[in-house]
Amino acid sequence: MIIHVDMDAFYASVEIRDRPELTGRPVVVGGSSEHRGVVAAASYAARRYGVHSAMPTATAKKLCPELVLLPVDMPKYLEVSEQIRAVFYRYTPDIEPLALDEAFLDVTASERLFGPAQHIASEIRQVIRTQLGLTASVGTASNKFIAKIASELDKPDGCLFVPRGEEQPFLDPLPIKYIWGLGDKTIARYRTLGIATIKDIRCRPKEYFSAEFGVQGIKAWELANGIDRRPVEPERHSKSVSHELTFATDISATESLLGILLGLAEQLGWRLRKKGLKGSCLNLKFRNQSFQTRTRSCRLAATDSTATIWQAAKALLLAAREADPAPLRLLGLGMSKLSHRRQAQALLELEPRAQEQSRKIDALTDRINDRFGKGTLRRGMSSSS
Ligand SMILES: [Mg+2]
Repeated sequence: MIIHVDMDAFYASVEIRDRPELTGRPVVVGGSSEHRGVVAAASYAARRYGVHSAMPTATAKKLCPELVLLPVDMPKYLEVSEQIRAVFYRYTPDIEPLALDEAFLDVTASERLFGPAQHIASEIRQVIRTQLGLTASVGTASNKFIAKIASELDKPDGCLFVPRGEEQPFLDPLPIKYIWGLGDKTIARYRTLGIATIKDIRCRPKEYFSAEFGVQGIKAWELANGIDRRPVEPERHSKSVSHELTFATDISATESLLGILLGLAEQLGWRLRKKGLKGSCLNLKFRNQSFQTRTRSCRLAATDSTATIWQAAKALLLAAREADPAPLRLLGLGMSKLSHRRQAQALLELEPRAQEQSRKIDALTDRINDRFGKGTLRRGMSSSS
């Protein structure tokens, strides 16, 4: 059985937990309206005014004049996310994170030890509430597709269990927007064909959808029939580790972009070392104002060193800026071609001595940041450039 856990209004809930005087008030976390900022997360009290994430902060303030706006504190959310992850690990190692506040858990092998999946789900919710002071919505079902819908339907602070064999009565009455991969345009086309609910899809033959919509139609038909064979893919099996950041406003100054990139390089190095991974393909991703996304990659000797990642990332970004200095709205940095440290151990002896020093710095930085919170110790840009 699979559990989908999704924290409720995550960033906003963390901030309210840390400032109890804000409980029940309309709170958003995001960029300021003076700087064309957008809402990153809205508390449920704020949502009642029609405020939602990705909305310009200025619009949100118009909808709700007494709105409390707080700045985004990413290191804090990363830390809480790790604490949540640690709760999951008590029950299963089969965890597939989808975001900082969202993950799939395969608890099939844990049921003998911890009881039925729905008990594990409610225990996880309980532990997150009592130990972290936050609420999560959880959905439990026989596959990912249904588990995710179950967590969504009962939000916030929800706990919904779809027993094996009950999948179809659960899915049938739902509108087709719950089918993964259907955009607004496709949904409109389904409507013109007289299809509004998941049952409407299920009651027509598979061939009808393959003829009308091709591969995507077959996928939709399978989901409507409760068929979803995608396994939960734990991060240790994942092919890449990456971090990205969408800006509140488009940024064109290369200096500012380098500052953001350094932060991404530090997060990436930290994640790799934490997971005992080394990577040999560094990928830079950037998106411009017209939503065109580009990537640049380079090969490295397998590494988890922040200094090495930073040097290579900087070279990629500078080359990209030289070719096209257009303002950017997103910057991402990832590592693929991963190997476990033990596999990479053989290469270690071949590493030049100079890298010894930077490994010591990484280890020290990690120790201090683990102890006092991420971002306590950061490299100065000049000293490592
Ligand atoms: Mg969430």
